[in-house]
Amino acid sequence: MNATTELSDPRTDFLSNRLFGLTRRIEDIDPQLSRVLVPWVVRHPRYLPGFLRLARTIGQSRRVRARALAGGVRVPPFLVLSVTSKCNLRCAGCFAGAVGTITGAPAQPGLSLRDWYGIVDEAVRLGVMAFLIAGGEPFLLPGIANLFRDHPDRLFLVFTNGTALQPSDYQILRNCSNTVVVVSLEGDRGLTDMRRGRGVFEKALGSLDRLRDAGVLTGIAVTVGSANIEYWCEPRNIDELIPTADRWRCLSNRSQPGRFPPVVAKAPRC
Ligand code: SF4
Repeated sequence: MNATTELSDPRTDFLSNRLFGLTRRIEDIDPQLSRVLVPWVVRHPRYLPGFLRLARTIGQSRRVRARALAGGVRVPPFLVLSVTSKCNLRCAGCFAGAVGTITGAPAQPGLSLRDWYGIVDEAVRLGVMAFLIAGGEPFLLPGIANLFRDHPDRLFLVFTNGTALQPSDYQILRNCSNTVVVVSLEGDRGLTDMRRGRGVFEKALGSLDRLRDAGVLTGIAVTVGSANIEYWCEPRNIDELIPTADRWRCLSNRSQPGRFPPVVAKAPRC
């Protein structure tokens, strides 16, 4: 079960609900998405042209998918792309690690950035509107941010451990009004470093700071398990993290093998 949550801001919600009907269009992709993106654009007007382009594409891509459906082909509005199986961390209970995709030498080389351009281009032609980018660690695929920059009429939601972004990535991302970067945390420093390795919390927060300085919309992703459920049930802890990222948080309730026992309770919507 995944739940994407955000905080309502009455100062911007009123305006955003009237901003060219964008909210309704984006809700077609994800109802929560519009409540994050539209207020953010209101606060960052330099991204408005790019955002309007995205809004236009939503309608176009929906029509493309409708034509495909009429021909018997159902095209999803968004795709999940695991762009690399490489990762620089070895988190306890990592699902990818448990099935052997991030450790050892890969049996086959992964797809190249050029291959991913081909896949995204084909998906765009089919009417896919948004891409959820995952790994491994996506920023270990050199130049991956170029893929987002070069498809400005599609939305990219990138999940990263926050420890592998290069200066060149920030340079490119600062010009991507179509990209949300979501950094994974477990909770505070102790919880995060216990599962992800010493120093990871500090690096992840540093990346969030640099992304925010570059004007990139950011968020935090959390896998809720028995080790951190109490932490995330405490509103004060959530309040403290809100200034760290923008208004996007993903709570993922998932079984974690290894040191982290399976989830024992359902995460609340915050
Ligand atoms: S950062 Fe993600 S892919 Fe890498 S080891 Fe941790 S959980 Fe696995």
